[in-house]
Amino acid sequence: MLPTADELLDGALGFVIPLKTTFRGTRVREGLLLRGPAGWGEFAPFPEYGADESARWLAAAIEAAWIGWPDPVRMTVPVNAIVPAVSAAEAERLVRASGCTTVKVKVAEPGQSLDADVARVGAVRGALGSGGSIRVDANGSWSTGEATTAIRTLSEFVLEYVEQPCASLVECATLRRIVDIPIAIDEGLRKAEDPHRVIGLREAADVLVLKVSPLGGVRPALAIAETYRLSCVVSSALDTSVGLAAGLALAASLPELPYACGLGSGRLLAYDVASDRLLPRDGTLDVRRPTPDTQAAVAMSAEQMAAWRQRLSAAYASLNDPTGAP
Ligand SMILES: [Mg+2]
Repeated sequence: MLPTADELLDGALGFVIPLKTTFRGTRVREGLLLRGPAGWGEFAPFPEYGADESARWLAAAIEAAWIGWPDPVRMTVPVNAIVPAVSAAEAERLVRASGCTTVKVKVAEPGQSLDADVARVGAVRGALGSGGSIRVDANGSWSTGEATTAIRTLSEFVLEYVEQPCASLVECATLRRIVDIPIAIDEGLRKAEDPHRVIGLREAADVLVLKVSPLGGVRPALAIAETYRLSCVVSSALDTSVGLAAGLALAASLPELPYACGLGSGRLLAYDVASDRLLPRDGTLDVRRPTPDTQAAVAMSAEQMAAWRQRLSAAYASLNDPTGAP
């Protein structure tokens, strides 16, 4: 039985947390923490997301707080460091501070050149040495031609995979026939109308990026992994430690986990909702579930809280509408 919208909002905490660097064009992360019988869940769809897309995020929060997650098959998860579209010097500093041996580097940032990507990825390789792994994420910004040139150039630094090089799966499938590097699909899966039935995904992808909130929870993400039978990597959506715990639960329950996961993003937040933060140590996270510190979480104005309550109600209505639900 689904909790009612009032039950979801009863005891909900708002959070507003500054980011250390601009990410997705914003410097703040906000959302709600929901408390249910199974623990805490995070409802923090990005500002531009409408009710239908947000409904999946709500489903994931309800699973976390009212149902709980499947049993883990591993108790530690390797994680990667993340390097946003920063300067080469800053990239090097981030990698050295992370303690991780796998790094995901953002590339193809609008307004930046391939030279900037080459400098950033080169600096990361320099900081990691030859032993570490580098993956790049273009967030679908390249055409197939641009992607071919960029990947051939960046291959000098040895890449583990390229995440969402082009916007469409057709372009990614074309690229996949041209270059040797594995292609990981993120947006092409999580933005699909039905992620369980994505036409052309198998032709486009070597690796699937699984994110709990946009896919509607740990169980739907596990079902997606089962459906496509491709290698999977788990990543976060710039979550607090409450949301990261859900990603960790997914990474802990996947039958195979061949790649370090993007769950080290807690470092991008200036502070967290739990004092017992999920931050990687020596490139790994222990599988656990921090409880929010209610003092740290309540940083939201009454107006912001009202707006979030409205977003949750709209997502809830969409979740319950069989014609409009994602
Ligand atoms: Mg991505």
